[in-house]
Amino acid sequence: MKSLEQLVRPNIRALKPYSTARDEYAGGEISTWLDANESPYDNGLNRYPDPHQRELKRRIARLKGVREGQVFLGNGSDEAIDLPLRIFCIPGRDNVVSIAPTYGMYRVAAEINDVEMREVPLGDDFALPVEALLAACDEHTKLLWLCSPNNPTGNAFPAAEIERLLRAFEGMVVLDEAYIDFAAEPGFLPRLDEFPNLIVLQTFSKAWGLAGVRLGMAFAAEPVAGLFARVKYPYNINCLAQETLARQLDRDIAPHVAQIRTERGRMARALAACPAIERVYPSDANFLLVRTAAPDRLYDALIAAGVIVRNRSRVRGCEGCLRITIGLPEENDRMLRTVQDFRP
Ligand code: PMP
Repeated sequence: MKSLEQLVRPNIRALKPYSTARDEYAGGEISTWLDANESPYDNGLNRYPDPHQRELKRRIARLKGVREGQVFLGNGSDEAIDLPLRIFCIPGRDNVVSIAPTYGMYRVAAEINDVEMREVPLGDDFALPVEALLAACDEHTKLLWLCSPNNPTGNAFPAAEIERLLRAFEGMVVLDEAYIDFAAEPGFLPRLDEFPNLIVLQTFSKAWGLAGVRLGMAFAAEPVAGLFARVKYPYNINCLAQETLARQLDRDIAPHVAQIRTERGRMARALAACPAIERVYPSDANFLLVRTAAPDRLYDALIAAGVIVRNRSRVRGCEGCLRITIGLPEENDRMLRTVQDFRP
């Protein structure tokens, strides 16, 4: 890996971050808060939230088996996707490399930041194109985007292949593990200390069932997590989100995850037996990608039955494919009945 000195944008290296009123107060019992131009009238939300989310980070670090200094919390994964581009990539000069098809926000975030996105197609059966990814990189490639399990293909990539990229690529590897709780393998968080160029993204939107709260996580070596903290908006996680998460963190998500995995297996078998379905791709996520000869008509038939899925048939590499989220058993059955009755 290149040094952070070489990888980080000079203006970010030189940045003196905004210091909030709450940063400047360093402890001691305070009963009268006259430092932040807040309203004094207590309605439960008149005070700014903790800009560093210290209590949440402490608990998340314990939950995930990492150190507090390795945790960044963002306004959804969207913030954690945007920040590496802003930290590492000089607009109009640097580039990033990613697999394709994958989660669309990597490209959008790169384009917003005026950073060239180089997409490398997945191989047969959506295999990770390790050597082609490395070949797509040049001296201006700052980030390599991976998503495992990948959206929309659903497959997780072998750890040995991700490891090869982490060791061979000179810049930062952003590994999006939004769906890792549904996968058979544990992902890379337990190995964070092995790879100073690894940024793991996770989210509370999927297995935790908190998509409405907008809380994403990034995990990285302390110097990298520290860069996220410098560049983010000062109060990026609002009070309501922090309080909601604090209440939810002790919940056991295992029963819901187990049921979704069971339903995923049941739906994969049942859909594979439908005349309209040519292929059900293996999934380590909470959705299935299925290929059909008539994606638009099947999509419309599902809509007519009140069921919406994601039509991915116009995404390169996903021709003919619909992406179906695993819902409650009765919701899955409703979807299945329409697919079973559909004739292409
Ligand atoms: N990463 C991937 C791979 C996703 O598929 C999604 C949501 N579709 C996200 C991140 C977004 O997560 P969040 O709700 O945390 O922004």
